[in-house]
Amino acid sequence: MKYVLVSGGVISGVGKGIIASSTGLLLKTTGLTVTSIKIDPYINIDAGTMSPTEHGEVYVTDDGGEMDLDLGNYERYLLTTLSRDHNITTGKIYQHVIERERIGHYLGKTVQVVPHVTNAIQDWIERVAKIPVDESRAEPDVCIIELGGTVGDIESAPFIHAISQLQRRAGKGNFIQIHVSYVPVVPPGPGGEQKTKPTQRAISDVRSAGLNPDLIACRCEQPLEEGTIQKIANMCSMEANQVIAVHNVTTTYHVPLLLEKQKLITTITDLLNLQTIQRPPDRLERGNRMWMDWVDLARGQDYLHDTVSIALVGKYISLKDAYISVSKALEHAAMFCHKKIEVVWVDAGHLEDETFENSPAEFHKAWHAVCTADGVLVPGAFGTRATTGMIKAITWARTKKKPFLGVCLGMQLAVIEFARNVVGIEDVGSEELHPQAKNHAIVYMPEVDKDKLGGTMRLGKHPCIFQKGTEWSRLRALYGPSTSQIEERHRHRYEVNPDMVDQLEKAGLSFIGKDVKGERMEIIEIRDHPWFVGVQFHPEYLSRVLGPSKAFLGFFAAAAGCLEEVTEAINQGQRSLARSKQ
Ligand code: GLN
Repeated sequence: MKYVLVSGGVISGVGKGIIASSTGLLLKTTGLTVTSIKIDPYINIDAGTMSPTEHGEVYVTDDGGEMDLDLGNYERYLLTTLSRDHNITTGKIYQHVIERERIGHYLGKTVQVVPHVTNAIQDWIERVAKIPVDESRAEPDVCIIELGGTVGDIESAPFIHAISQLQRRAGKGNFIQIHVSYVPVVPPGPGGEQKTKPTQRAISDVRSAGLNPDLIACRCEQPLEEGTIQKIANMCSMEANQVIAVHNVTTTYHVPLLLEKQKLITTITDLLNLQTIQRPPDRLERGNRMWMDWVDLARGQDYLHDTVSIALVGKYISLKDAYISVSKALEHAAMFCHKKIEVVWVDAGHLEDETFENSPAEFHKAWHAVCTADGVLVPGAFGTRATTGMIKAITWARTKKKPFLGVCLGMQLAVIEFARNVVGIEDVGSEELHPQAKNHAIVYMPEVDKDKLGGTMRLGKHPCIFQKGTEWSRLRALYGPSTSQIEERHRHRYEVNPDMVDQLEKAGLSFIGKDVKGERMEIIEIRDHPWFVGVQFHPEYLSRVLGPSKAFLGFFAAAAGCLEEVTEAINQGQRSLARSKQ
């Protein structure tokens, strides 16, 4: 096994995850199989109980792991399927060590950070790195390990110690480290100076922690000047080709191109002796094709003209990372259609009336955004705040025949909106949001645990069966007539009340997809509407750069006015709309 550790210095949040996944992508294009592990040194067992406005989205894997959002980057870039074990946290490691201590595994010993915790970390990495993660089902050749946070954080100390030992376990030529740093420009903007001191400090910190980076990836707003690269190399006792410059680019899809231009593949191949790894011809060819498609797509991004605007009506919009997979899925759909996407972020709370301590300016601005957008998207969320605003936006999209997509909570609210305003059920709501309501269109799922929050939702991949008599469905048309079942990832605690389904259906809300038993509602759609679809699952988690999610693709195409062409193109197996049809 070959390991590439990607660590961070100076500050976090400068794109370490993108650099790590882009490096993985480059290796994959050379025909290698690549896996990835994300280490988060926090004490939570997983990201499931963390606030989206503080930590960003919770990414869900097939096996129902509630993970750090960076895992999403890896799956999207490397076309892999990761498991909950690919995200290591301090909480998970300690839980594992403590459980073993209780069963007497360390009998007689004092259980300590070194060696017990640090050994557990190494064993975990070695075990998980070997799990096949892509269609080849082969043991991966390379494992990218991303260490969250910055080196020097108190929580990361056991991981750094473990990794420096893992380096020895792996043996010479089997481990490299890329340290991601930040080069500020002072004063900011043109004419400012690129400052190398934070990078010098970061390198000396990581060295005193016991690691010795082979490459420094320097994030900078502008391209790094030759003199800056030289200075960093000199001050850190490295060669200039060990300094990789990663300046701001128009889209993150350009980052692999930027790294390739600096011969990152050659450098890593030399450092890790990758030339010795045999690659079957079909994998080599697939890698080549992947690279050509990627370059095409990244370059194509710079030549898009028509803009399609999507109002994303959410409650966590103060942190855009809370919707990272949703915005990526929209981007994938836009790329398929060769359109530029403009996501208009609307705080759903601002759509509520004067009783909300809203400024009139915010209220009108929010409504202007919803009314002028080409499509309205209501993504997933938890809790009552701002849901009245979401319901109002749904009423608008339904009655004005604007393309609408509701994801998870968005679907549940669309059902409530329909029950209230079309069926006319009195005082109807959700057990989660309106516990006092007389009627509930959305209820607790019987099997979930009401008292314990961590990992107790209906999570992960579950099948959804298309129902008889719904062949007219616009969403179904994108899967083609022969598809009767799909699988998507879930994360919810409530569901549509099965007792209300008949009533809703009679009034025109169709339940296109249900679970295998036909008891749990998975997809809603309104026939007399250009595109009004709600899904109980989260299609954004399975959307891929070169394989957009059908729910997002149909929604976006309807908003862009090209749903028919897209449906035809996708049924003919095309990877995107023909450019001539733009
Ligand atoms: N809060 C809702 C539920 O638990 C929706 C969850 C979500 O949108 N992910 O069912």
